[in-house]
Amino acid sequence: MSRKVLVWNEYIDDRRAGPAKDCYPNGIHETIARLLRSYLPGTVVETATLQDENSGITDEALASANVLIWWSHVAHEQIPDTVVDLVQDHVLRGMGIILLHSSAESKIFKRLMGTTCSFRWRESGDRELVWVTDPSHPIAAGIPCVIELAADETYSEYFDIPKPEAVVFISSFAGGEVFRSGCTFQCGEGKVFFFSPGHESYPIYHNDMISKVIGNAVVWADSGRPRGPRRMFVHSPVGWYELQSTQAEVL
Ligand code: ZN
Repeated sequence: MSRKVLVWNEYIDDRRAGPAKDCYPNGIHETIARLLRSYLPGTVVETATLQDENSGITDEALASANVLIWWSHVAHEQIPDTVVDLVQDHVLRGMGIILLHSSAESKIFKRLMGTTCSFRWRESGDRELVWVTDPSHPIAAGIPCVIELAADETYSEYFDIPKPEAVVFISSFAGGEVFRSGCTFQCGEGKVFFFSPGHESYPIYHNDMISKVIGNAVVWADSGRPRGPRRMFVHSPVGWYELQSTQAEVL
């Protein structure tokens, strides 16, 4: 069965006339969808936005998605908690999720991390250098030792996240700041990747190497397994194991 990716974008800044729309005339979600279709032929890529019914997120859409990509900035609080519950449930059951840029402050990222996810920031168009700090990680495959971005929003430590499973990238900025810009986590059965480059008024997602990182992350985050039911507490009395007829039932 084909891998399916759902690209979700709040689609607010890039819908109005201005620098974001100049960079992404059809929206950030369509740019990311196009790069994925090009980079991962055979992958089914669909898009959704906050403007769609139920904020663009339904149980059916998530159930058929192997990986969800999330971009949000000014509308974090407009996402209903029921939608956050739904996304979290699918992640815990094995859906991969990639959170881009200011999605660091989204309800779903904070929910998955269990921390404030706060960080320092400044919008001054500093040059960003994205350094590979885990070259053997699948997300860094084919990526040079550093990706140079002429201008991006500055994000800086301290970034209040749990200790990542892997820090694949660390960014440095012209002002001297550093930031753990590419981090992986495991939440339940779902793989989580946060990647910070991507301020809406700079053409970050048109950069070939940034595109390659996102494509690699989709392949990495897709567990390739059917999604099981939500795990529940199971009382296991003495002798329960011997009563099982197959190993599959034990799992
Ligand atoms: Zn930004």
